[in-house]
Amino acid sequence: MTISGPRLRTLLRQAERTAASGKRAAAETLYRQILSEAPESEAAWLGLAGVVYGVDEKTAVYKRVLEINPDNEAAQAGLAQAQGGPSDAFEQSRDWLETVTASPARKETPVETKPEPAVEISETAVSSPTNVGVESAEDDFDLVCYRHPNRETALRCYNCGKPICIKCANKTPVGYSCPDCIRDLQKNYYTATLLDYIIAIIIVVPLSAVAAFFLRLIGFFTFFVSPVVGTLIGRIVFWAVRRHRGRWLSHVVAGAVVLGAGMMMLVYGFSLWTGVYAFMAAASAYYFVKV
Ligand SMILES: [Zn+2]
Ligand SMILES: [Zn+2]
Repeated sequence: MTISGPRLRTLLRQAERTAASGKRAAAETLYRQILSEAPESEAAWLGLAGVVYGVDEKTAVYKRVLEINPDNEAAQAGLAQAQGGPSDAFEQSRDWLETVTASPARKETPVETKPEPAVEISETAVSSPTNVGVESAEDDFDLVCYRHPNRETALRCYNCGKPICIKCANKTPVGYSCPDCIRDLQKNYYTATLLDYIIAIIIVVPLSAVAAFFLRLIGFFTFFVSPVVGTLIGRIVFWAVRRHRGRWLSHVVAGAVVLGAGMMMLVYGFSLWTGVYAFMAAASAYYFVKV
């Protein structure tokens, strides 16, 4: 069910612009005003979900939409997202809102040139308890990316709220994120310290050397045993560094595997099987540590 009255449709568009310009509180007031007149408007409920804070509140709003229309995909996706599941809900709900509120005359007749609804809007805006500043929403729409002052955008980082252009926006399961917040996220994700790297090298080089020594004795079977040894080495490293993740840890481990095998070759001379071992074990260890 969509809002049919042109006044409510205009209000809805106004609320959307206010939300897009980042005035969430003002947008929330507008959406609630719309909902007081059209409590069955899925578009208004969805818009409201986009501006309220907190998982519980978002969840409640999305559930309300699904009560009105259990098949509303934007609300289903939004609910899944609010409850932590990865989804494209952000984009889906935006696209959906676009189609719902788009009217044929949308582009040619901006709000200001339509005297009737415009007057009504300012009346309702004034009559609402907090004057939500609808009149300035238009001006604020041309946000610029905080890293590219010449690029206009309507996107904001879901985390810190800074306006970002689509080039700077990183899509995450919970929304678009700015590069700064991504860096912070990675800082928390990669927990390995220099000590962890040193521990990994100290463990892997001798282990790999010993493995290379034995594997040169089994010839052809090196093909089957090397991946197992590599995975085992990866497992031991994982345990030794207390499950810390490091951006370069897998590379270092693979290098250490090759280094250990190389040391064996220095002592016992070149062997094709040691070469095969070094390659296969390094690859297995690399992928084990990386994942
Ligand atoms: Zn951010
Ligand atoms: Zn940018």
